[in-house]
Amino acid sequence: MEERIRLIQGDITALQVDAVINAANSSLLGGGGVDGAIHRAAGPGLVEICRLLGGCEVGEAKVTPGLHMPAKYIIHTVGPVWKGGQNGESEKLASCYRSCLEQAKLHDCTAIAFPNISTGIYHFPKELAAGIAIRETRAFLKTNKIPATVTFVCYDQENYDLYKALLNS
Ligand code: ADP
Repeated sequence: MEERIRLIQGDITALQVDAVINAANSSLLGGGGVDGAIHRAAGPGLVEICRLLGGCEVGEAKVTPGLHMPAKYIIHTVGPVWKGGQNGESEKLASCYRSCLEQAKLHDCTAIAFPNISTGIYHFPKELAAGIAIRETRAFLKTNKIPATVTFVCYDQENYDLYKALLNS
């Protein structure tokens, strides 16, 4: 496995990193899954800050403070809903990873952590999503010094096993 890419299984809200990525919805006002967990961990101030951001487009990213989380920042991105694969889903997911990595660089984040964007409520096929996440991250790290490390945080065993296999190939 590359030195700058890490893999863990667990809850992303507990991580001591500079920025945690949130798989949000376009309202940025909170939801289920990892989004709900991040809002609970950051505290009620997060939705107040998010309200001022005016939402977020699919494939783009917006930054807030981490508030009560150990992470300094939360980078909110909106993944595509899987609708069969003929609606630009893969390109939109790739754009999420690129946008978050760009924001991490702009905010000088040395260590960041990604959840498996779109693979929960949005039903993106997990293996395809993992391949896109790893490809985009590797490409970005090749041409950028910051972030120095990227941790993929898998909540479920299936995603963890997929990432492990792909990162070792
Ligand atoms: P989406 O709407 O983008 O599919 P979800 O939150 O439903 O977002 O799921 C994205 C991924 O986040 C899923 O793989 C899910 O298992 C995972 N997840 C849920 N809770 C957490 C958490 N606390 N930490 C890390 N990952 C989580």
